[in-house]
Amino acid sequence: MDSIDVDELRPPERLLMGPGPSETHPRVLAAFGTPPVGHLDPGFVEMMDETQELLRATLGTENEWTIPVSGTGSAAMEAAIANLVAPGDTAVVPGNGYFGDRMAEMVRRAGGEVAVVETAWGEPLDPAAVRDACATHDPDVVGVVHAETSTGVLQPSMEEITAAAHDHGALVVADCVTSLGGVEFRMDEWGVDVAYSAGQKCLSCPPGASPLSVNDAAMEKILDRDEAVRSWYLDLSLLDEYWGDERAYHHTAPVNNVYALREALRLVQEEGLEARWQRHRRFSAALQAGLWELGLEPVVDENARLPSLTTARLPDGLTPGAVVATMRDDHNVEIATGLGAFADEAVRIGCMGHGARRGPILETLGALGETLVAHGVDVDPGTGVAAATAERSADEKP
Ligand SMILES: *Cc1c(COP(=O)(O)O)cnc(C)c1O
Repeated sequence: MDSIDVDELRPPERLLMGPGPSETHPRVLAAFGTPPVGHLDPGFVEMMDETQELLRATLGTENEWTIPVSGTGSAAMEAAIANLVAPGDTAVVPGNGYFGDRMAEMVRRAGGEVAVVETAWGEPLDPAAVRDACATHDPDVVGVVHAETSTGVLQPSMEEITAAAHDHGALVVADCVTSLGGVEFRMDEWGVDVAYSAGQKCLSCPPGASPLSVNDAAMEKILDRDEAVRSWYLDLSLLDEYWGDERAYHHTAPVNNVYALREALRLVQEEGLEARWQRHRRFSAALQAGLWELGLEPVVDENARLPSLTTARLPDGLTPGAVVATMRDDHNVEIATGLGAFADEAVRIGCMGHGARRGPILETLGALGETLVAHGVDVDPGTGVAAATAERSADEKP
């Protein structure tokens, strides 16, 4: 057989400013590259405990059942839904974005019935509409996407939504994939029963180990199921044997991903959770000031605009795909096109974790200015950077 000749690994050098993966912190990368030990090694078991403690602090929860799920955010999402939704259950899910749609699909595959809170893309759910849906459908589970990465919507009024669900005896699953570690999220205080996230958004980790937390009420329901969870890999009653007190083999943990996540969570603690939320707000304000100065327009109203992901309408006549390609090919900056209702008119730009800093934000705006000019827009390419800098200086007044 002929040998296969492939080149040495040399991925393109990109600045990752899209909806994820985000820029990785060098300390996280170093942790990732540390030699693995056995997933049952006492040294690793200690790191599991530490990682669980750090996850609780970052999520704002006391839940014992707080673990990194093996896999990306969708694995943690599927673990949440597949365990919580038993066949015949009804789940109310948000209809205002791509990840609400994914939730609905996972509910169906778990054997559940879906009731959608119909809401336009680009708008948050109205808690009154969630209350109505609960009254009409008497759900077992209510899903909510705290940070909708497909549109850039931050869901305000989380407590009103959890209260509506609890009044009807439903448990609440919250997607905090694009908020955890970047945007205020308080699991216990807000009454969220199950929350899941991912590493590669505001936590600035490589994708692969994803936070999941389940409170006692939800775990009780899960352990009380009549029918086994349809996924063996993600069955929390089995995973309990590894992440619970026994520390017995279920599957091999992605050891290096756990190292990386642990380091990323340590960085969150060093910076301080609230300081980190503040940093994301400040740099997203600078980014957005630059975008509007360049002639782009916000898709989402200010009261529901997500700091970690901005969806911005392009000037007339520009195609998102072409702008994204020029940003990548001529400037090595990754951003993304809009999705769904905004696919033909908007781009999505992240401001997450290690990317939520002066250098990456200004580089992105500089590249975007030049990209617009290259596509025939009549704009001074440096005005975005200038507006962002002015916003930052105003913010830094003593
Ligand atoms: C990225 C994302 C997910 C899915 O995570 P993957 O890591 O891509 O599997 C789920 N929900 C939201 C809101 C996301 O942004």
